[in-house]
Amino acid sequence: MAAKVKTAFLLAGGCAGCEMSVVDLSEVLVDVLESIEIVFWAPTVADVKYCDLEEMEDNSIDVAFVDGMIRNTENEHTVKVLRAKSKVLVAFGACATLGGIGALGDLHTKEELFKQAYQDSFSTDNPDGVMPSPEYLLDGKYELTIPALLDNCATVDQIVDVEYYVGGCPPHPKFVGQILTSLLAGELPPPGSWITSGKAVCDSCSRNPVRNGQERLPVGEIKRTIDGTPDPDTCLLQQGYMCFGPVTQGDCEGSCLNVNMPCRGCGGPLPGIKDFGARCVSTIASSMADDAAVDQFIDKYNDMAKMFYRYAHTAGSLNRKVAALKDK
Ligand code: SF4
Ligand code: SF4
Ligand code: SF4
Repeated sequence: MAAKVKTAFLLAGGCAGCEMSVVDLSEVLVDVLESIEIVFWAPTVADVKYCDLEEMEDNSIDVAFVDGMIRNTENEHTVKVLRAKSKVLVAFGACATLGGIGALGDLHTKEELFKQAYQDSFSTDNPDGVMPSPEYLLDGKYELTIPALLDNCATVDQIVDVEYYVGGCPPHPKFVGQILTSLLAGELPPPGSWITSGKAVCDSCSRNPVRNGQERLPVGEIKRTIDGTPDPDTCLLQQGYMCFGPVTQGDCEGSCLNVNMPCRGCGGPLPGIKDFGARCVSTIASSMADDAAVDQFIDKYNDMAKMFYRYAHTAGSLNRKVAALKDK
């Protein structure tokens, strides 16, 4: 019997939803487990210590998946160690590849984030304004440390070399199954690639006017999803809803469209698109019928950075501008 593929999963600064997608493989997971040996899965599944990973031999893991962005000193340390232990490293999901939703915190200062999380949030009772500290001396003799928040989030490939990228918040379980199967069959694209069907969400969308032999019409009236129930058969972008399907990888096969919601871009950019947010801006802007539509758009959407870079802020050029402003 062929040796099993030694596999690792590391959750960095994320919610573990990407790992839920692996579990959601259900019966496919049973087949996959015939061929892989999970040698590390932390901290989601096992409460291992740093030394458990550090003491593994270099290059002893065949393939490692990292989900979550690099948000604190622990994420940074563990991903560097895991890199040394792994032959192939996969940045798995929107946070690891692009920054993800949590990385929108970088549009605020660290002080604002701490104040909101530990003082001002509705469920917090902190009358003395105590903030977490990376180092604390307990009872005058016990030195306690916790990971420190980094000044800015990083994607996995901003810290270590990455062989493959997988999009999605989280990646769709069906597609995760295909990835694992092609990995086990040794049928992977060249290193540096996104593992994707390469199709846009629009390509699998039954509302796509072009697929239906119709013309794509310019958008005259801008809508938000709270403005009513969209027509279930007509392109959402054409109806005025902000749908990022034209520029987003469609490995989910249009999950959101199937429930009458516009694509928000969690699949990540189609291969070849360098700055996802900028491409969304250009796609949406070029679909508008006239200046009145542009004005309406600006009135209705008041935080465009968070809308266009919802999943991709860390990997985008806006991030570099924001970081430069914070440094001033
Ligand atoms: S990509 Fe989404 S599901 Fe995965 S860790 Fe980030 S927030 Fe969670
Ligand atoms: S823009 Fe959205 S609704 Fe329109 S075809 Fe593309 S995915 Fe479907
Ligand atoms: S339709 Fe868009 S936002 Fe929805 S799951 Fe697919 S890629 Fe993500």
